[in-house]
Amino acid sequence: MADLKVKRIKKLDTTVINRIAAGEIIHRPSNALKEILENAFDAHSTQIQILVKEGGMKLLQVQDDGAGISPEDLGILCERFTTSKLQKYEDLESIETYGFRGEALASISHVSYLTVVTKTRDSPVAYKAKYVDGKVLGGENSGIVKCAGNNGTQIAVEDLFYNIPYRKQAIKKASEEYNRILDVAGKYAIHNAGISITCRKVVGSGGSKTTICTDLQTQRAPPPSTARGNSSGNSSGNSSGATNNASKLKVIQQVYGKQVSNSLIEFKKDLMENRDLRVKIEGYCSSGRDNESGGTGVALRKTISTLESISGSRNNGGGGGMSFLLFRIIQSVCVFEFVG
Ligand code: ADP
Ligand code: MG
Repeated sequence: MADLKVKRIKKLDTTVINRIAAGEIIHRPSNALKEILENAFDAHSTQIQILVKEGGMKLLQVQDDGAGISPEDLGILCERFTTSKLQKYEDLESIETYGFRGEALASISHVSYLTVVTKTRDSPVAYKAKYVDGKVLGGENSGIVKCAGNNGTQIAVEDLFYNIPYRKQAIKKASEEYNRILDVAGKYAIHNAGISITCRKVVGSGGSKTTICTDLQTQRAPPPSTARGNSSGNSSGNSSGATNNASKLKVIQQVYGKQVSNSLIEFKKDLMENRDLRVKIEGYCSSGRDNESGGTGVALRKTISTLESISGSRNNGGGGGMSFLLFRIIQSVCVFEFVG
């Protein structure tokens, strides 16, 4: 017999609310990386270095050379809904940044130990603060300290999910998490060709010797004065002109290999004439038959054969059109540029 005793409604503790909310945004290290990378792009960085230990569960560190954070803002940096990107609701209509809700750093700080070192161009020194559950460890007055540091921001996330044991247990293989991290870094690198992104992992730290392995290293675009063509190196994927296309193709080659990058077909479509869509699309797609061995190829071929079997059963064997179209979409490296 079910217990029909009426239970009273109580307001949840803020820490519980924040931890639940954080768990919905950050499921694994690669989610945290996405948020931190987006902040680095929003800060107009030209160089971003990622360092990973144990698949990002022990350490996920991102150093950028962007605008930095004002030391006066460090006190509220990791509180929920604190942002420099939005003030009033109407601002959403013209937002040009990846982030705007002020939830990412707060979420990360509720499920890990987060350390920020930041230096703005006009400051002679950097500032450092550690955060737990959205608050500066040691309090705002003594927890924010001066230190040496480069222009830009370094975010270090340590011991992810130390306070959510079931999440931590669910993440079994550091190598799988690292692959997810590399995947996120690679995709953002393609979308932001011209910004240098490095992804490295600590492979062993036996005794005093630490071995670090570099798995992704893309190049920074030359400064505008030396660049030929229209190479702004800007973040939002709005590259145009031969130089930007060349550097995008180079990054695609670094991420997906030469076979894929050599077989790409460029496409561009201006859908502005369709007033409902108001969008321009440009990107690359490949045939999907170009990477016969290795990760991407295997995953793709699996997807393609699933699609072919679905469309085949729907169309009694004659469904090549649909699967062909879909696998081209899946294989594409696309850049969407929204206009208006
Ligand atoms: P959002 O990006 O939605 O504003 P976040 O929690 O991701 O929220 O970041 C909060 C604020 O912290 C940002 O609005 C930005 O002002 C600042 N910030 C975070 N990361 C960086 C960074 N790498 N460089 C400069 N400012 C940053
Ligand atoms: Mg953000």
